[in-house]
Amino acid sequence: MSDTVTVRVPAKVNVQLAVGAARPDGFHDLANVFLAVSLYDEVTATPADELTVTCAGPDAGKVPLDRTNLAARAAEILAERAGLAPAVHLHIEKRIPVAGGMAGGSADGAAALLACDALWGLKTPAEELLAICAELGSDVPFSLVGGAALGTGRGEILTPVPAGTFHWVFAVADGGLSTPAVFREFDRLTAGTEVPVPQASPALLAALASGDPDALAATLANGLQPAALSLRPSLADTLAAGTEAGALAALVSGSGPTTAFLVRDAESATKVAAALNASGTCRSTHTATSPAPGATLL
Ligand code: ATP
Repeated sequence: MSDTVTVRVPAKVNVQLAVGAARPDGFHDLANVFLAVSLYDEVTATPADELTVTCAGPDAGKVPLDRTNLAARAAEILAERAGLAPAVHLHIEKRIPVAGGMAGGSADGAAALLACDALWGLKTPAEELLAICAELGSDVPFSLVGGAALGTGRGEILTPVPAGTFHWVFAVADGGLSTPAVFREFDRLTAGTEVPVPQASPALLAALASGDPDALAATLANGLQPAALSLRPSLADTLAAGTEAGALAALVSGSGPTTAFLVRDAESATKVAAALNASGTCRSTHTATSPAPGATLL
């Protein structure tokens, strides 16, 4: 047992997000290629009389501090399984955009799980931690493992895939987009059409493994992008601004509204970020590389 534990956890971008038709349970089958990127939240767990959450960072005001926070839910589930009281204070240093399509809440859930496991000296086996993650949400298992992975099912069944290093710029939009709302818009836009069974693209997986940014740029695909653009048409201006500034490819990150720009190298990342900041089409930018490690004890 220790006094305080901090876990660093990455954001993600989907380099492929193939979405199937809505299932009877309302979820969609996905073929989802996740990449963890070097944009991190940190979650610190400290013993306390009861479960409390605080959050700091530019978007802190948008993060719920009650039991709906995924970090709090992770602590509750782990404590219940161990027969403990969730007597912990969780502090979130938030850098991942909130409701931005970069799995920030999922990241904090995975980080809190790892932090509480260490704080309480539980040494929960990795498969059990992953099962708790899947219970917390479809993107949470990937936040725990990081790197690069193919997610099938709702996205929670993970197979690690090889990936070279890539450089990215992320443009943060004003306001968030609700992931369920974007899936509903996907259903509306595809109603009456034949939605193919989602499958990972072999060309994309080969490009990812090769580390060749031009090959990856030619194969990136986000099936939720039309729905995100339909709900937030102004994102098209952000995508165009990044492309004009020299990005190799531009896409909406997950369900948006963060937009992701694949660039050739660190120098190009700085240039594209500056152009996006000057364009007035986004609130702020982050530069990052992939793949990044998953949730890590500091
Ligand atoms: P995804 O990419 O997994 O669809 P997202 O990145 O679009 O998710 P999140 O930042 O995870 O979105 O936030 C979605 C909602 O989850 C927020 O509006 C907020 O109400 C809730 N939430 C719960 N816990 C957290 C948390 N720790 N950080 C941020 N949001 C949280």
